[in-house]
Amino acid sequence: MPTDPQSPYLPFGDNTRTPWYGKDILSVKQFNRADLEYIFGVAHEMRGMVERVGTFDLLKGKILANLFYEPSTRTSSSFTAAMERLGGSVIPINEVKYSSVSKGESLPDTIRTLECYADVIVLRHPEVGSAAIAAKAAQKPVLNAGDGVGEHPTQALLDNFTIFEELGAGQIDGMTVTMLGDLKYGRTVHSLARLLTLFDVKINYVSPDILRMPQEVKDEIAVKNIPQAEYNTLEKVLPETDVLYVTRVQKERFEDPAEYEKVKGAFVIDPEIMKTAKNEMIVMHPLPRVGEISPDFDDDPRAAYFRQMEYGLYVRMALLAMVLGKA
Ligand code: ASP
Repeated sequence: MPTDPQSPYLPFGDNTRTPWYGKDILSVKQFNRADLEYIFGVAHEMRGMVERVGTFDLLKGKILANLFYEPSTRTSSSFTAAMERLGGSVIPINEVKYSSVSKGESLPDTIRTLECYADVIVLRHPEVGSAAIAAKAAQKPVLNAGDGVGEHPTQALLDNFTIFEELGAGQIDGMTVTMLGDLKYGRTVHSLARLLTLFDVKINYVSPDILRMPQEVKDEIAVKNIPQAEYNTLEKVLPETDVLYVTRVQKERFEDPAEYEKVKGAFVIDPEIMKTAKNEMIVMHPLPRVGEISPDFDDDPRAAYFRQMEYGLYVRMALLAMVLGKA
């Protein structure tokens, strides 16, 4: 248990008056800069606690329902690890085909069922807007773990936390962030681009023509007066880039497999290409990678994608503690 009286944790007693108690996390649009500072402060403390004691009892007795209608390795297991490191437990539903969903149960009914047993629900679902539908049905907090090509807010928070921890909290203003790959179907970049509008950044989009950032997202960014530019090659923007955010071409979202074949190998980051990048910059990827970053680059100190996964644990611990009234 934290002993520091300044700690943002409220480990004992009635904490229902904490600002995030009972809240859903559905979209990055719900956060302002002060929220991020708060979340990252708690996540930073979580990191310290995990390093010092591993597991502690902040959420002892609380139960998370982890409901995944789409494949997941990192998001699902990091939410499980987060809950268990906080002393809580998890109902894992990773294979909805073995649940009543395969009998035709609706999403709202499945959510109503799970909230009878759990205190918080994490949902990944193939349809845009599904997390909002679930949140409407639920009394308990719902955390969006990816709604189709829509958003992935907890990923964007951990991405932002990674930038803070790796490059310095105060330095994000003034940075150039280059997003590379499948910007059309990649929900992580939709959320990250929106979240970055809280800072004074420049955003570059590099993608094949058919995988450009959706106009709707670009319009939202433009309203916030964030400079953005589109390219179909990386060479020109790599030297100025502080954060290179690489994404996988989202094969499962293509209607025509031939279209996927045309663009699947469009960009590959390797040590040779990275010679033109700054020494002080980072390469991120939400993972899984399927060829966009050569393993030959993995030992480069700028390769932040494995560290990024670990930051996800601390951010998800922070979010669970917050919505359950313990931070
Ligand atoms: N894991 C991330 C997501 O669920 C990225 C990806 O699948 O490419 O969106």
